[in-house]
Amino acid sequence: MKWTSYIADGRASYGFLDGEEIVDAGAVLSDRHPDLKSLIEVGSLIEAAYEAKNAARIALADAQLLPVIPNPGKIFCVGHNYESHRQETGRDKTEFPSIFTRFADSQIGHGSPLILPKVSTMFDFEGELAIVIGEGGRAISEGDALSHVAGYACYNDASVRDWQWHTRQFTPGKNFPGTGAFGPWLVTADEIPDPTTLSVTTRVNGETLQSQPTSDMIFPIPTIIAYVSAFTPLSPGDVIATGTPGGVGAKRQPPRWLMAGDVVEIDITGVGLLVNKVENEGL
Ligand code: ZN
Repeated sequence: MKWTSYIADGRASYGFLDGEEIVDAGAVLSDRHPDLKSLIEVGSLIEAAYEAKNAARIALADAQLLPVIPNPGKIFCVGHNYESHRQETGRDKTEFPSIFTRFADSQIGHGSPLILPKVSTMFDFEGELAIVIGEGGRAISEGDALSHVAGYACYNDASVRDWQWHTRQFTPGKNFPGTGAFGPWLVTADEIPDPTTLSVTTRVNGETLQSQPTSDMIFPIPTIIAYVSAFTPLSPGDVIATGTPGGVGAKRQPPRWLMAGDVVEIDITGVGLLVNKVENEGL
């Protein structure tokens, strides 16, 4: 199943897809579950869909999609997690995954503008597979890790490289508003029994700039979940962006920085197509 968060007729809600329509599960369930994160907290999205199956529908085209989880408690990103990207950045191999964080208010949904900050001339794309945590936990074992995944989505961990490179800490360059594109929907984990068989492709204005199978991850998803949950509890709705393949704009010759008007597509087999157009910040 595909679940998404959205605004329609001025009201924020969430629901699941049926063809080109969204079934407005939020209209039926929001007394108990005000948002998709709180629905994931209580368990089965399949049971929830059954309970809401007769809810009103709206055309997907009429909805403004929000980040799949607009209000995750924690967002983690994995740096240099594909060999091709590690090599192009000149990083040494590491024993442990490189983890940094994003704030929820840096996120946007499918179709919303990616915002090129006024203070940057080095705005870049990073196509990634994101996982959304279902059942939370601490010290999750690698063997149990995939049972803690509610589903998968596309993520563009768009990066303000000049601010990322001010020091060794990534935080400033990864948290400008309108830079974390997350969508268009969550595909439930039952539809993706093996997340190592997907292919992550990034196109800018139709030109393919990144394309790699998820089997090329240096630290696979179970290892990432085990590592993160070793130092902090994971909760339902938490997001982990699992790293980007080689081919980022910063490492191309010449560099390919995003400009206003560029259309960035993150296309992951069996998951979805996330499209966002770059706009200049209106400050
Ligand atoms: Zn990234």
